[in-house]
Amino acid sequence: MERTLSIIKPDGVARGLIGEVIKRFEDNNLKIVAMKMIYMTKAQAQGFYAVHKERPFFDSLTDFMSSGPVVVLILKGENAIAKNRELMGATNYKEAAEGTIRRDFATEIEKNIVHGSDSPGSADFEIGYFFNSFEIIC
Ligand code: ADP
Ligand code: MG
Repeated sequence: MERTLSIIKPDGVARGLIGEVIKRFEDNNLKIVAMKMIYMTKAQAQGFYAVHKERPFFDSLTDFMSSGPVVVLILKGENAIAKNRELMGATNYKEAAEGTIRRDFATEIEKNIVHGSDSPGSADFEIGYFFNSFEIIC
């Protein structure tokens, strides 16, 4: 069993896609063990995406991620990290496989509906960034 962090980004929340995204997780054996809606400050978004701070899109990305409420979730399941990345699709929605969340709903490379941890190390960091132990069902 593995855990991963998912975020339904501001575009997904604003467009009414929370239920749609969660349905895909639940239909694919990813169990929700923590969930909340938050509205990040720019500084909180910068801390979350610190790994990308040298990238040219960092400023725009952190503006976007602090532009409206997001839903953060911890998903648990077998190979949860890879399974979630598979359901999400490629970063660039134009390259994402058919039937993936990004292919079906993303409108720009930046506004791509969902975030998902990309490794066990990042999952640990990202889960700890948003949740304390009392908020996680075990
Ligand atoms: P992923 O979310 O698939 O793990 P990355 O970690 O590489 O992708 O990038 C984090 C987020 O930054 C992406 O989901 C997307 O919102 C944004 N992003 C990535 N690459 C670009 C780019 N070339 N231009 C604008 N935004 C980007
Ligand atoms: Mg990433």
